[in-house]
Amino acid sequence: MPELPDVVVYVERLNALVAGQTLTGIRMHSPSLVKTYDPPLRSLIGRKALAFTRSGKRIIWEMEGDDFVVLHLMIAGRLRWREKLTKLTRKRTHGAFDFERGSLVLTEASNQKRAALHVVHGADALVNFDRGGLDVFAASDAEFAERMRSGRHTLKRSLTDPRMFDGIGGAYSDEILHRARVSPVQLSTNLSDDAMTTLHAACRDVLTEWTERTREEVGDGFPEKVTAFRPGMAVHGRFGKPCPDCGTAVRRIAYATRETNYCARCQTDGRLLRDRALSQLLKADWPRTIDELEA
Ligand SMILES: [Zn+2]
Repeated sequence: MPELPDVVVYVERLNALVAGQTLTGIRMHSPSLVKTYDPPLRSLIGRKALAFTRSGKRIIWEMEGDDFVVLHLMIAGRLRWREKLTKLTRKRTHGAFDFERGSLVLTEASNQKRAALHVVHGADALVNFDRGGLDVFAASDAEFAERMRSGRHTLKRSLTDPRMFDGIGGAYSDEILHRARVSPVQLSTNLSDDAMTTLHAACRDVLTEWTERTREEVGDGFPEKVTAFRPGMAVHGRFGKPCPDCGTAVRRIAYATRETNYCARCQTDGRLLRDRALSQLLKADWPRTIDELEA
């Protein structure tokens, strides 16, 4: 799922390449993608896209006339910036927004179509999409700790809950927990003030580093390789591979339909916890479907 670093760079490139242009047409293959009917999507044609912003993992674009398009890419949704009126393949393509100088194509490489697009009128309507996740960059250490302690959950669950924290998902939470040297199944109510401050700094550092890295890779183009599995990650998606800091093989805990990766030496004091017990702990702490958290 595109997380804060990916969404930030999407928004930056959309502002650089698309903002200011008039929407000249819409080709929609998946009517079910569009979750609202008023204002009608097609009523946006002929208007300019003014600016792109982010709300959590959602991309918001403001159209002339005070209408807003709110797009959640969920796990497999991606945006592409292609030459104007590029031919669309039916497979895996929801449709395209045709602008004056190019076409913004929305794809979703998954059988389960979860991406969602809403059109709303007026900035006030955007509050409905604000999940209330804490911005780790703006928050003080005390605010971070308070939010973390507001519910008794595993750190993995708390970090990835969009109602708790802004823009963090499965991939960067693994990286953050490894950076902070804490276990993904540590309970959020069970962390000292010092450990909390370390975890908060790890959130900012990991998200900043990956945003800068993504920005550098994309350059003056458009994000093409948005993936949760990136070379250079310490533990996420690296089961069995050596931890870059200590060389120990990265472990995994599978729970529900997800998994988390961690280094036992760096994060659990070298203790090899029983993965089945961890799995049950995480599973019990997780809602049944990801849609419950993200929808
Ligand atoms: Zn390690």
